[in-house]
Amino acid sequence: MQIYLVGGAVRDELLNYPVYDKDWVVVGATPEEMIKNGYRPVGSDFPVFIHPKTGEEYALARTERKSGKGYSGFQYHASPDVTLEEDLSRRDLTINAMAKSSSGELIDPYGGQNDLATKQLRHVSPAFSEDPLRVLRVARFAARYAHLGFTVAAPTLKLMQAIASTDELSHLTKERIWQEMERALSERSPLTFFNVLEQANALEQLFPPFTTLVNNDKAQQIAAQFTDTTETKVRFAALCYVCFHTLSEAQTKLDQFCRDLRTQNQTRELAIHTLIAHPQLQCWSSLSAENKLALIKQLDLLRRPERLPPLQASTRLLSDTNTNAGELLANLCEELKGINPKALMNDGYKGAALGEEIAKRQIAICELF
Ligand code: ATP
Ligand code: MG
Repeated sequence: MQIYLVGGAVRDELLNYPVYDKDWVVVGATPEEMIKNGYRPVGSDFPVFIHPKTGEEYALARTERKSGKGYSGFQYHASPDVTLEEDLSRRDLTINAMAKSSSGELIDPYGGQNDLATKQLRHVSPAFSEDPLRVLRVARFAARYAHLGFTVAAPTLKLMQAIASTDELSHLTKERIWQEMERALSERSPLTFFNVLEQANALEQLFPPFTTLVNNDKAQQIAAQFTDTTETKVRFAALCYVCFHTLSEAQTKLDQFCRDLRTQNQTRELAIHTLIAHPQLQCWSSLSAENKLALIKQLDLLRRPERLPPLQASTRLLSDTNTNAGELLANLCEELKGINPKALMNDGYKGAALGEEIAKRQIAICELF
């Protein structure tokens, strides 16, 4: 059997980009041989194995045939006579369809190196159209490499538009769509993801509220402030604010959008809390003590202090001025936590009177911020 490094690792090595995960393809082997050599099968009917020591994925060379809708509607044919070139031909982009042998030889049957040099995201073959997930993947790679000058090749964009003109995108699961969007948000140029999807006529179908982001100055101003350490959920929340804050019933719609997409609870909550908090933080100094306390209670910030740092981050991204309202909010929460009900009870407060005294002290503290 011959083993080749394939996919992203080969691409990123050539780009001098950090390589995070390595995918391998095995030519000329049977599943039985793999198991005999200590590899662990990933599933019973999928020709992918895990290396016993490195944990990396080793896939048997395979061809595939479209047999149904969506990205899972494929029949795989893995056998020792499938060649490396055949395996590479089923891959999405030429820059993802290169392999490196154990002796370091580069195998590049579809012009991947040339497309790396000319910075083109180009499909390998017309079979590209068989998997709608590739529309999202290409948009995501565009978001990752836009700063290097990469663009989607015109014929590839045409194929993406062709996919979007059928019902294929509707067969992607919500989880998979969110997974791609979440990854795209963490890339260097997240807005490129939405721009490319728009050019492919797929944005309206996939993420209707996010059509607002295309050619949007505010969104660009926000994205320009993203750094390597800006968390994905913070990026999402700030961009959602741009998409939802002018809508009527924004909160319910944003909530529904996040539930439809199956985002994590934390991500949904931060997006909604940002929608609620940002307008108030913007006019913090003119808020009444009662309003400040109501905001803190609405977001449950005293019991859920972990909510504060990401909320400060998302609202800071949205702020035009150099306001310190987020910090004031955090300091205020800290002070409010200093109210000690036990000490008040020792002083003789109980029942309704205790509640009233706590509220009175809370308001008094809010007056100071
Ligand atoms: P990343 O750096 O994000 O891991 P990657 O290119 O390695 O990028 P993977 O999702 O790890 O992407 O997939 C490994 C390889 O498998 C890809 O480079 C590509 O050749 C192929 N591939 C993965 N998904 C698809 C798909 N939906 N259609 C065609 N080829 C695919
Ligand atoms: Mg990979």
